[in-house]
Amino acid sequence: MTEQILLFRTVFPKKRCEKGDDQWTFTADFGINSLLILHSTLLSMSLLVVGSIAYDTIETPMAKRENVLGGSAPFFSYAAGFFCPVQMVGVVGADWLPEYTEMFRKQGVDTAGIEIVPDGKTFRWSGKYHNNMNDRDTLETQLNVLGTFDPKLPDNYRRSQFVYLGNCAPSTCLSTLEQIQGADFVVADTMNFWINTTRTDLDRLLKRIDGLVINDDEAKMLSGELNTVAAGRKILAMGPKFVVVKKGEHGAIFVSEYETYVVPAFPVENVVDPTGAGDSFAGGMMGYITSQQGIFDGETIKNALVYGTITASFGIEGFSFDRYKEISRADINARRKIFRKMTSF
Ligand code: AMP
Repeated sequence: MTEQILLFRTVFPKKRCEKGDDQWTFTADFGINSLLILHSTLLSMSLLVVGSIAYDTIETPMAKRENVLGGSAPFFSYAAGFFCPVQMVGVVGADWLPEYTEMFRKQGVDTAGIEIVPDGKTFRWSGKYHNNMNDRDTLETQLNVLGTFDPKLPDNYRRSQFVYLGNCAPSTCLSTLEQIQGADFVVADTMNFWINTTRTDLDRLLKRIDGLVINDDEAKMLSGELNTVAAGRKILAMGPKFVVVKKGEHGAIFVSEYETYVVPAFPVENVVDPTGAGDSFAGGMMGYITSQQGIFDGETIKNALVYGTITASFGIEGFSFDRYKEISRADINARRKIFRKMTSF
């Protein structure tokens, strides 16, 4: 069986993606003597994400935090921002704090795609973790401005090659896709809320994407299977070319028609708040894939799973974005080295 399991249409030659103080630089090798240094906007090399932007209230066995920044798009964007430029699409209300826009700008995330509804209220979610810090109950979901969100992408977002449709209404994901011509690589996430309430739209979405990232329980719910790998395989028949099943503290499994890969979770000793781990995992994974534009082969996929795992492992060491704000790509690389030592045999 060949290692090269999926070959996606790629328009650009291999490029290196490096983050400077305030902007990204790309070194693109177009052939024998041509080395071009181009700014990101020329190559539209960034990763576009659409998803929920939330104020979360989180209860763990140790502590409680109210109205902290959360949502699939922020966690995804911040994590992906360690690897490549990101364009974030989402909606917030008048209660949006400008300091968050600044936080994302510093991380290389373009927030021009965030719509602020002047008389609206930002989406709110509250959850309570069990003693194992892995399982949680949703206490409340207030859709607010997310309930009627109809994204309008800025012009420069419509040429994105790499797209992540985070956790939000499948109709919002579909409407985002309609506005992007010729995306090369589209990955989506979903959860029980949308599986239960918008199944017809979700089935349409599954036929339009390359990959699905989904929690273990939700993969089982979507497929009707009791076994994780069987669930992944059944979802492949619904449309995506690959499925990544997230298993919380037990890692993740990549399933495609040809190959199955597994990655354990990094053993974090001090888990403070696991909220957003799944979105951060997806952000690290997609950010790495975007930074490696070219052939999507086994090595790239395995590295992407590892970078997703390592990035998420930092996020859960603090509430909301507290821990992320303290780290850099160098910390991710250092932890990756430790992880490699732990898992190679
Ligand atoms: P994760 O821990 O990766 O599953 O992501 C948790 C984040 O998902 C939280 O910050 C919530 O704000 C967000 N979230 C929870 N429920 C929904 C929903 N129905 N739609 C979109 N985002 C949600």
